[in-house]
Amino acid sequence: MAESSVLSGRKFAKEVRRNLAEDIVKIGGRPPGLAVVIVGDDPASRVYVSMKEKACGKVGISSTVIRLDESVSQEELLLQIDILNQDTSVDGILCQLPLPDQVSADIVASAILPEKDVDGFHPVNVGRLWRGEDGLFPCTPVGIMALMKHHNIKIDGADAVIVGRSNIVGKPMAALLLRESATVCVAHSHTSDLQGLCRKADILVAAVGRPRFITTEFVKPGATVIDVGISRTDDGLVGDVDFENVAPISGAITPVPGGVGPLTIAFLLSNTVAAWKRNN
Ligand code: NDP
Repeated sequence: MAESSVLSGRKFAKEVRRNLAEDIVKIGGRPPGLAVVIVGDDPASRVYVSMKEKACGKVGISSTVIRLDESVSQEELLLQIDILNQDTSVDGILCQLPLPDQVSADIVASAILPEKDVDGFHPVNVGRLWRGEDGLFPCTPVGIMALMKHHNIKIDGADAVIVGRSNIVGKPMAALLLRESATVCVAHSHTSDLQGLCRKADILVAAVGRPRFITTEFVKPGATVIDVGISRTDDGLVGDVDFENVAPISGAITPVPGGVGPLTIAFLLSNTVAAWKRNN
């Protein structure tokens, strides 16, 4: 374990970005290319996309943002994806969620070439993840695994509980922990005795979206607690974990902000560079 029990995603993400920037210079040639498709005017989506653009610029990834009107049809969006699939200067494609009702996020995810699917949402990459094969996997869980390894947290043989079963966080997190030989349990809103289950966890991942939901009663003393949740409240950004009270009893814990959030973008860049290396 590192000197502090607070796992700074911000600090680690900086190191990841610096390594990526060095790699890009060392390998040289055409820079990695990321294309981000954004539909409509959702303010949060605009902020995320602009953060992604900035982060790309800093490490030497060339980013393009394709802005489509809220009323875009599924066919038009798929046509745009097809153009990007064929563009040899584009290594990674992502479509910022949420999408408007007339467009199916699943159909869009399946239209992106698996080799360019830097969000890791294509069914082929989902299959590769669960089969233990190489592929592109969702950035948030990939970042969490890298952070835990960076801090020498024991995963092999650990009892891990994930609260939340989304395709973006909970399920891929379970697959990645399982690949590293943790014993994994995925909890959700129908789970009976959630507290009792969580209290058995050596690694507890909270991906619920309910501010300060995970209190000390859910945490085994000494456990590693990973807080994925982000809720906007009057107190600012708040995680799923009651950090103030849980931190003293945990072995290691990620803060909000500055924990998992910065990892997600850093590992989006990492996926883009990985796709570029394969294309090169
Ligand atoms: P979803 O809303 O898709 O999933 C939430 C999960 O929490 C569901 O599986 C749901 O169960 C479960 N849940 C809800 N209430 C309870 C409860 N009372 N007890 C047990 N389980 C419950 O969210 P996401 O996975 O997309 O995101 C989760 C959080 O993480 C959000 O705050 C989001 O903003 C944040 N996030 C942060 C990222 C980052 O970079 N830091 C990246 C992605 C997400 P059920 O399936 O039964 O409904």
